[in-house]
Amino acid sequence: MAAYTKQDVISALADPVLHRITILFDGLLINGAGFVMVQNEIIAGNIEVVQGSSSANAYYHSGDDTLTTQDGPSPAPYWKKSLLIHECVHALIDIYKYTTTGLTNELLCYITQVAYEIMSDSAYRYSLNTSLPAGSNDAKWNQFWVAIENYVRGLGYSFSTTGE
Ligand SMILES: [Zn+2]
Repeated sequence: MAAYTKQDVISALADPVLHRITILFDGLLINGAGFVMVQNEIIAGNIEVVQGSSSANAYYHSGDDTLTTQDGPSPAPYWKKSLLIHECVHALIDIYKYTTTGLTNELLCYITQVAYEIMSDSAYRYSLNTSLPAGSNDAKWNQFWVAIENYVRGLGYSFSTTGE
């Protein structure tokens, strides 16, 4: 497998599910129009898409407006697109020059990522894995994902969310 290309990111941003997302946080709006902006910046080459070498991680670098993609099958399934969209939220925050802490910036990306995932598949669930060693990084990540999903569902997002 090869890493996702500029075209894969543009395709992920064309997913109509993104137009059902409206997350307003302290003056920052994450919605379909924002994703169109990111898409336009990528098409114009103002945000450069670089093919990375990791199967698990993608990155957005605000310093040089570069999005580095992860590895995966093309066309990307929604659960691979969700990580590209996470990075595109970082890009959107950068485009808006919205200033916040690194942690809040990251949380907004995870919240959007999980909203997109649960709207894309009625069966999508993060479940608590109690067999992971207590206190381990894996256990903490597992608890984190479950908490984000609970939060996102609490905002009203589900497979049947229709948006505006
Ligand atoms: Zn991130």
